[in-house]
Amino acid sequence: MEDHLGAPAVECEAYRNPGVPVGPWLDGVGPVLRERMRTGVRLAGLTTLRVGGPADAFIEVRSEAELVEASSVAQQVGLQHFILAGGSNLCISDRGIRGLVIYNRARECSLGETTSVASGHGTIPLVLKAAEAGLGGLEFAIGIPGSVGGALVSNAGAYRRWFSPYVRSVRVVTDGSLRTVGPDWMEFAYRNSRLRRPGAEPACLIGADLHLSPRPRAEILAEACEYQHNRIHRQPWEPSAGSFFKNVESREIADRLDGLPERFRTAGVVPAGFLSDACGCRGLRHGGAQISPRHGNFIVNAGDATAGDVRAVAEEIKRRVLDRFGVQLEEEVIYAGDWSD
Ligand SMILES: Cc1cc2nc3c(=O)[nH]c(=O)nc-3n(C[C@H](O)[C@H](O)[C@H](O)COP(=O)(O)OP(=O)(O)OC[C@H]3O[C@@H](n4cnc5c(N)ncnc54)[C@H](O)[C@@H]3O)c2cc1C
Repeated sequence: MEDHLGAPAVECEAYRNPGVPVGPWLDGVGPVLRERMRTGVRLAGLTTLRVGGPADAFIEVRSEAELVEASSVAQQVGLQHFILAGGSNLCISDRGIRGLVIYNRARECSLGETTSVASGHGTIPLVLKAAEAGLGGLEFAIGIPGSVGGALVSNAGAYRRWFSPYVRSVRVVTDGSLRTVGPDWMEFAYRNSRLRRPGAEPACLIGADLHLSPRPRAEILAEACEYQHNRIHRQPWEPSAGSFFKNVESREIADRLDGLPERFRTAGVVPAGFLSDACGCRGLRHGGAQISPRHGNFIVNAGDATAGDVRAVAEEIKRRVLDRFGVQLEEEVIYAGDWSD
């Protein structure tokens, strides 16, 4: 366990606190997870935006089997829980996350035209491993940080390509037990799946079988390099959670916007960054959070931002875009944890 993790569970505040009923969960899991559970772990350092308060209770899982155990018992005993992986699509509240955070480090991977990969496996390492094995398909994902599980939850994508076409099946824990489902179950859409929907039932992705195609290694790497080159020149370097808002898919809006590049008008897509720029948002600052001077859809942590600062900046972009264009931006980044007043 790394240094930043807190005291062992058995003596912990969370165990005695009736507001955080981890006792039944501790009784339900085996000794390895029981001993490894921690409390009060600060989460900011486990996210790319570097904001967020502590987890009441925290368990790091290191294999698919441990992830199944931790999540299925949490579901069975009705313990509020949250799956944290790369932390690259999150803005965690300054008050932190109530209940149990399951930190997913399950990283098994078996490569082939059907590649079986654990949900905690990194997306970028997967693209690189697949390239080494002469398996193509995921080149577009070379610059997408975080885990395969996180990528499936948001159907992550870039350059008009996304994960869902490569998914053959998914291993998931719902209703307290493990099952294998087809891609239809995920209800994939643009940066969305059933796991992101408001009020969705608790579901933990354990792993997936992905369909990859034979392709010469040099071709894969050349394509991936081109994508990376493009990204390095466009994106800011400060801590962020990537694009903050989803692009707006609407032909009607694309048709009426002056100055929208023709390729977006043709596709009926309006980049959120275009709208933010048109409203003069670049460089805008609240506390330690800033809209990147390099990219109008990136909110960066310029040093000492709180999650509250980030949210204030995001609200300001939304307000300006709504006032000027009548367009309601929708967050791509997920607000996690306790945001109650
Ligand atoms: C610099 C930068 C560039 C980025 N570029 C892109 C891009 O080009 N395209 C793109 O789509 N995204 C991009 N992102 C966003 C982010 O990297 C992706 O959404 C990524 O796939 C998230 O994975 P993660 O492991 O970090 O998920 P996390 O941030 O840890 O979690 C995100 C959500 O998924 C849930 N979740 C994660 N794993 C599981 C699981 N196993 N079971 C159930 N729920 C789970 C979490 O509970 C949370 O709600 C970028 C981010 C950064 C910082």
